[in-house]
Amino acid sequence: MLSPAFLSRLRRLLPPHCVLNEREDLLPFESDGLAAYRNTPDVVALPENEAQVAAILQLCHRHKVAVVARGAGTGLSAGALPVDGAVLLVLAKLNRIKAIDPLARTAVVEPGVRNLAISEAVAQHNLYYAPDPSSQIACSIGGNVAENSGGVHCLKYGLTVHNILRLRAWTIDGQLLEIGNESLDAPGYDLLALLTGSEGMLAVITEVTVKLLPRPERAQVVLAAFDDVAKAGAAVGNIIAAGVIPAGLEMMDRLAIQAAEAFVHAGYPLDCEALLLCEVDGINEEVSDDIFTVRKVLEASGAIEIRTAESEAQRLKFWAGRKAAFPAVGRLAPDYYCMDGTIPRGALPHVLKRISELSTEYGLAVANVFHAGDGNLHPLILFDANQPGELTKAESFGGKILELCVEVGGTITGEHGVGMEKIKQMCTQFATPELTRFHDVKAAFDPDTLLNPGKAVPELHRCAEWGAMHVHGAQLPHPELPRF
Ligand SMILES: Cc1cc2nc3c(=O)[nH]c(=O)nc-3n(C[C@H](O)[C@H](O)[C@H](O)COP(=O)(O)OP(=O)(O)OC[C@H]3O[C@@H](n4cnc5c(N)ncnc54)[C@H](O)[C@@H]3O)c2cc1C
Repeated sequence: MLSPAFLSRLRRLLPPHCVLNEREDLLPFESDGLAAYRNTPDVVALPENEAQVAAILQLCHRHKVAVVARGAGTGLSAGALPVDGAVLLVLAKLNRIKAIDPLARTAVVEPGVRNLAISEAVAQHNLYYAPDPSSQIACSIGGNVAENSGGVHCLKYGLTVHNILRLRAWTIDGQLLEIGNESLDAPGYDLLALLTGSEGMLAVITEVTVKLLPRPERAQVVLAAFDDVAKAGAAVGNIIAAGVIPAGLEMMDRLAIQAAEAFVHAGYPLDCEALLLCEVDGINEEVSDDIFTVRKVLEASGAIEIRTAESEAQRLKFWAGRKAAFPAVGRLAPDYYCMDGTIPRGALPHVLKRISELSTEYGLAVANVFHAGDGNLHPLILFDANQPGELTKAESFGGKILELCVEVGGTITGEHGVGMEKIKQMCTQFATPELTRFHDVKAAFDPDTLLNPGKAVPELHRCAEWGAMHVHGAQLPHPELPRF
């Protein structure tokens, strides 16, 4: 609980409409996109400029009050979940596009600017911002940086970290960090990369300089249907092996296809087990060559139906199904739990088969919708939170999927971050030496662990408690820690 004295100091820093602490005002902020995890914040601060952000951080630092940064709250790993006794620092009002430089192909934006708003603002210069999370109409660029977000286009154009140049960010004691620059190399440690994906644990981002790309001359998508999920999984690797780098390579399984078709009528074939959408872009001739190659590879990989979008309207229709797949699946059950793990592309057939076996074991249906080209899985586990025990069952099933990802050489997150959701699986992914270094980095920025405490990096004793700590050479790490 925050003291009345602290709250009145906070109110002195901001206009009255920028501090919320009435219950009905706080409820919209009790969760991010992972609504199964909820906690009503003690207070919400909505600064309108960078100076106010700095002042809030200084106040919190002085009074040893924790701070949870929040962008648009679309995160799927409870990264922006409020923490008891903390200020929820919402960056949504810092939403100005400060500069666009069409010659340098850059834009300088505040953290609350929506991802899609950047591409909309620079379209007049025939430019766009490449990373395109499916949540791009809503999610903020600050959140994208904090999560190192990806999307359909990231297979070819990279994640957020590959598409930003500079950041302005504030440490918990209110110091400004200006990091990154516009040249290819820079002296010093790469703090830009360190802050990207740091989930609000190291600093609060108040300005981002993004790279812009010229819109491709042509983009075309091929849709391929398969009678077997494993064949579709193998086709993904075959396309890349044939030398094509698609601008997007996405996959859906039967349940997802049927849900998407019923929702947006994208014209998908329904009598199949898996669909691949493969988009290529570039100059005209390059696209024609790639489409030819992709079709040949898909045929050889056993596709039962192949269609190439013949118009821009058809291309957008094919994508509409994929882009709406999450809400479409949301119509199939009262709740779903979206997982996010990454695996080597070659492991796709094995992992998909194993997920289907786990689905039978747990008695919970799964729809698979994912960035297949990146090996980034999004199994959506369907359940009903009103049925006692189903959420726990779904969480346990999800945990097994993440452990499977690690087992085949992948990772427990592709783009959604660790947050609160995957903190246990961090103990499976990393051993004590790596986790210790993560804590050292955190301490270098935030020795009092005031920024987003309890998220992303587990305490070592927690790993011991969960029985998930890596054992090296039969030596139990930290034998002095209590095991429960
Ligand atoms: C339907 C749907 C589809 C999605 N599809 C994708 C997808 O394709 N790819 C993908 O990568 N993600 C996807 N996501 C997840 C989510 O949209 C991304 O993680 C996004 O980057 C979160 O942005 P946000 O502004 O909502 O951040 P929030 O949810 O508000 O916060 C996310 C994290 O960032 C931190 N943070 C936010 N702003 C700042 C800041 N200014 N400074 C420091 N830390 C900050 C928070 O503390 C938190 O840890 C999807 C989500 C939904 C609901």
